[in-house]
Amino acid sequence: MKITNVETYLLDIPLGQKAITDSQTKLDSVEFVVVRLDTDEGVSGWGFNWNYTKGTRAVQTIIDDNYASLLIDKNPLMYKNILNELHYTNHFIGQVGVTRVALCAINLALWDIRLKDVQLPLWKYLGPVKEKVKAYNTDGGWLETSTDELISDMNQLIDHGFDAVKMKLGKPDPREDYERVKAVKNAIPEHVKLMTDVNTVWDLKTARTWGKKMQDLDIYWLEEPMNPFNKKDHARLARNIDIPIAVGETIYTKYDFRDYIEAGAVDIVQADVTKLSGIDEWLDVAALARCYDLEVIPHTNIQQKLHVQLAAVSSNVPMVENCYKSLSEIWEDPIQVVNGYYTLPQESGLGCKLKDSILEKYQVN
Ligand SMILES: [Mg+2]
Repeated sequence: MKITNVETYLLDIPLGQKAITDSQTKLDSVEFVVVRLDTDEGVSGWGFNWNYTKGTRAVQTIIDDNYASLLIDKNPLMYKNILNELHYTNHFIGQVGVTRVALCAINLALWDIRLKDVQLPLWKYLGPVKEKVKAYNTDGGWLETSTDELISDMNQLIDHGFDAVKMKLGKPDPREDYERVKAVKNAIPEHVKLMTDVNTVWDLKTARTWGKKMQDLDIYWLEEPMNPFNKKDHARLARNIDIPIAVGETIYTKYDFRDYIEAGAVDIVQADVTKLSGIDEWLDVAALARCYDLEVIPHTNIQQKLHVQLAAVSSNVPMVENCYKSLSEIWEDPIQVVNGYYTLPQESGLGCKLKDSILEKYQVN
C-alpha cells in the first residue's frame, strides 16, 4: 500500500450553544484542521486537530509544506517510521507546539488507514478491558454562568444520569469561586463527584490559600491551578493541600508528563491525544501513569471518540470528560452517552471523520 495524495481542510465550526467561558477563553466556535491521506488501494485515512482560537492555519501550513511531500509514496502500514521522519524534519523550527499538533493529525490519519485495513475499531484492535466507559460532564459549569443557573444546569445533568460534574474557577476574586463551589456542593446529591478547573490563572499563593479552604468541600480534583510550565509550584502545592491535582491539557510531551509524575506534581493525569503527538504517545503516557498507580482521565471536548476507545483498553482510565454537546453531531456516526456512560463505536477505523456536509459548510479559505 502507498500514500498517493494528501488533502487538508481548515474549518471554523460554530458552537451553536451559549458561549463557553472559562478563566482564559470565551468561545463561540472551534477551528479544525482536517487531513485526508489517500492510498493506491482505495483506502483513505482521516485525521484532525483543533484549536479554540485562530491560528490553526499554521497547523495546516506545516502539513502542506513540511509533511505532505514526505508522505507521498510511503507505505502507511510502516507508520512509526513515517512519524519519526516527520518529527525530525522539524529540527530547527521546533518539535513541539504547532509542528506536534500537526503531527497528531497525521498520526490519526495513519491509524485510520491501519484500522480500516484490518477492519476493526481502535478499541477492538488494541484489546478492551471494559465494554462501556463512564462519562463526566463539564457543560454545566462554565464561569460566566450565575450561581443559580449553575446549580440548575448541574442538577439537570445529574437527572440525565451523570454522577460526576465539573465547574470552572478563576473569578477575579477567589472568594466568589469558593462561595460558588460551596453552593453547588450543597445543592447536588452527596454521591455526585464535583471537580473544579482553574484553567491555569492562579499563582502559588492563591492556589495554596484557596485550595486549603476548599479541602473541606469534598472536591474530587483541582485542575490546572497554575501555569503548566511551572512543575515545581505544582509539586509544592500538591505537598500543601489535600485535594488531588489534575493537569495535562496543556502538556505536550510524554517527557513533561514523566517530569510532573516524578516531581509528585500531579495526581490525575489528563493526557490528551490531540495535544500529544497522537495515539502512540498517549498510550506511552497511560503506561507511565500505571507504573505510578495514577489514574488517567483525558482532557476531552470534541475528541470523545478517541479517548473513549483508549479508555476502553486502559485499566487506569476510569472515566472520560463529556462537553460541547452541540458539537457531538458534526462527526459521522457520532458517539452517544446513555445514562452517564459512553457507548463504544462499532465501525472499522478510527471513527474521526467529520460529516461531508460539515466539511463543505464550514471550510475557511
Ligand atoms: Mg481543563
